[in-house]
Amino acid sequence: MSRPAGRPSANITVLGSTGSIGKSTLEVVALHADYRVFALTANSNVLAMVEQCLRFQPRYAVMVDGTAADQLAAELHNVGCSTTVLSGEQALIDVAIHPEADTVMAAIVGSAGLPPTLAAVEHSKKVLLANKEALVMAGELFMRTLAASDAVLLPIDSEHNAVFQCLPPETRLAGGDIRSQGVRKVILTASGGPFRTLPVEQFGAVTPEQACRHPNWEMGRKISVDSATMMNKGLEVIEACFLFGVGPEHVEVLIHPQSIVHSMVEYMDGSVIAQLGSPDMRIPIAYSLAWPERINSGASFLDLTRQAALQFFAPDMERFPCLRLGIEAAAKGGTAPTILNAANEVAVESFLSGKISFTDIPAIIAAVLAQMSCELADSIDIIRHADKQARAVARRLIAGT
Ligand code: NAD
Ligand code: MG
Repeated sequence: MSRPAGRPSANITVLGSTGSIGKSTLEVVALHADYRVFALTANSNVLAMVEQCLRFQPRYAVMVDGTAADQLAAELHNVGCSTTVLSGEQALIDVAIHPEADTVMAAIVGSAGLPPTLAAVEHSKKVLLANKEALVMAGELFMRTLAASDAVLLPIDSEHNAVFQCLPPETRLAGGDIRSQGVRKVILTASGGPFRTLPVEQFGAVTPEQACRHPNWEMGRKISVDSATMMNKGLEVIEACFLFGVGPEHVEVLIHPQSIVHSMVEYMDGSVIAQLGSPDMRIPIAYSLAWPERINSGASFLDLTRQAALQFFAPDMERFPCLRLGIEAAAKGGTAPTILNAANEVAVESFLSGKISFTDIPAIIAAVLAQMSCELADSIDIIRHADKQARAVARRLIAGT
């Protein structure tokens, strides 16, 4: 395939390659001969990793789990694949900062993604950020590290990618307050998830399978539950505040069940610029991979004449207390988002393993936030400590439910 003049080729490390975003990234990469896979990483899914190594022939494959790494090495040896297998958390960092990797897709789920993602920023990589939890838990530090590096940070979350596309080009990567560029507010859209219209009395009996059945997007289990509680939008409000340098009072959330308008920016003159597209993560992935150029993503094109009417509603904070908790944590700042994120990760894990009910999720998070004091989040040690403590408090509360 020929490469348009000026488009740089890329050597990519995909952190979390066996997940939903990881797989979509590889689908886009497979369409373009000038994108090469340098390293792939996963937690423990050997089967998926063997297939990916055979197809993309990366220099390195990392399995965090040691037993899984041994299995992968044996399987690849048997089929004569020359990929070097590494294991452990340090290996995630090593392949993210390797001098030959210029682009890093950060698609690990949860706080485990923070160390390699932050390291990639420190080492001035082009970082494609899907792992919103990393930014939520350590946003101030993350953005400060970004400002002190030559890294380019491109948001993969469809809403933030949409906002990025709707901002004036000179503001996009500035990391400053976008309101000084005539922006009045950022409008994040939300599908409302699978329980947008379910009677609230039935929330207590919701099963993990029901919570993971999203009407518009196919995603990993953790983010699917976050979408069902709307904590996902709470995390995204925090993510928007850090990425675009605004307070939560300048971020509006609108329920938009069709997931066609991915987000909008309203300017002080009354103009609203929106980004639309099929609900397909290959679009923000292709946009970010090729930025500032455009490439084919493989996604289908919108036919607005066949599209159901686009609707927008104000969110119901009584129905979705997690959204309110997210917005409150964004306003409070400091370690509040760190605590919120940690408590949410523990609560979602416990819900998925049947230990607590769906309605326990916001109750646990609110209780953890109420029990812990919030501090300035200006060092990695403070963030790690708050994260650890919030997890311990959440586990104690869950053991007592
Ligand atoms: P997923 O569960 O499908 O995949 C997660 C990946 O992370 C897997 O490759 C897994 O092996 C790896 N992983 C899990 N735990 C790990 C650990 N402890 N150490 C190292 N690797 C680990 O998740 P996903 O849906 O692809 O989401 C990935 C990230 O992207 C999340 O932060 C999510 O919020 C964000 N995101 C996802 C979507 C989506 O459509 N799926 C959209 C926007 C943002
Ligand atoms: Mg999103």
